[in-house]
Amino acid sequence: MHYIGIDLGGTYIKLGIVDEFGKIKRENTIETKRKRHFSEIIKDILVCLTHESFVGDLKHESIGWIGIGTTGVVDNQRGIVSYSCNVMFDNFPIKEEIQKCINKPVFFENDANCAAFGEFICGGAQNTGSSVTITLGTGIGGGMIINGKIYSGLNGAALEIGHMIINPGGRLCTCGRRGCWETYSSATGLIRITKDKLEKNKNSLVWNMCNKNLENMDAAMIFEAAKLHDDIAQKIVELYIRYLGDGITNIVNIFQPEKLIISGGISKQGEYLLKPLKKYVDENKYTRSCDVRQTELSISCLREKAAIVGAAFLGKQN
Ligand SMILES: [Zn+2]
Repeated sequence: MHYIGIDLGGTYIKLGIVDEFGKIKRENTIETKRKRHFSEIIKDILVCLTHESFVGDLKHESIGWIGIGTTGVVDNQRGIVSYSCNVMFDNFPIKEEIQKCINKPVFFENDANCAAFGEFICGGAQNTGSSVTITLGTGIGGGMIINGKIYSGLNGAALEIGHMIINPGGRLCTCGRRGCWETYSSATGLIRITKDKLEKNKNSLVWNMCNKNLENMDAAMIFEAAKLHDDIAQKIVELYIRYLGDGITNIVNIFQPEKLIISGGISKQGEYLLKPLKKYVDENKYTRSCDVRQTELSISCLREKAAIVGAAFLGKQN
C-alpha cells in the first residue's frame, strides 16, 4: 500500500507518494501563489494528484489515503483551516473538496505537527515515547509526539512555541505581541539581528556577500562569514545561539522530551550550530546538575521531507 503526503506551505506545495516504510517513492513541487483564491490552489493540487507524471502506474486501489499538512490552525473535524497568517484559506472545505474528487479518505494536520510525526515514523525520533521537533524557517514551528500520537491540544493550536516571549517588550511579532521567540530565532529573526548590526557597522564580510544590499542577505551568508572568522558575524552567531538556546531550554524545562529535533533551513549548519547550542542548553536547563536522563538534541536528517512523510502517515495515527 502507498499513501500520499502533501506539505502545503506559504510558498510551495510539496506532494509525495510514500510507501509503508516511510520512503518517498515519487515527488512533485508546485508553487502555492498564496495571494489567489484558495479554490485555485486546490485545483492545482488535484491536477497534480491525478496527473500521470505523478501517479505513474500506481493503481487507484493501491493508494490508502491522502494526508495534508498545512500552515495554520487546523480544524480536523470540519476539514478547514480556522486560522492562518500566511495563506487565505477563507474557511474553504479542503478535506471535502479533495475527498470528492479523489474518493479516498483525507487526513488533515498542521505542517509542524506533520514534521514531528515524520521524525517519529522514520527520522531522529523513532522509537521514542516523547519528542519535540522545531522548524527554524520564516517563523518557528513546533510539534510534539507523545506515545506515537501528535499532541495538538484541544483545538489543533498546541506547540505554537514560536510565540513564547523571550524578551518582554522586544520586537513586534506577527501575532501582535512583543518579544516572541520567532522574531529572534527564526531565519528571519537572524537576518533582522544582522541588519540591525550592519546598519551601524558595515565592516563585515556579510556586507560584501550580499553585494552591499541588505535585502540580498540570507541566513547562510551570516554563518559562512562567521566560519571565515569575520568578527561581526561571529558575534551575531553567538547572540543568535543564545536566543535559540533560551527558547530550547524553556521547551526542555517544560516537556523534558526524550528527543528534541531541530529542522528547517538553519539546521543545515549542522555541528557548527548544534555544538555550541548543546553547550548553552546543558549549562542552563533546570536539570543541569541532576543525575537523571536528559533530553537529547539533534539535527533532523529528513529535513523538509519530514512533513511529507508525517502527512502521508496521518492515517496510521487514527
Ligand atoms: Zn508572536
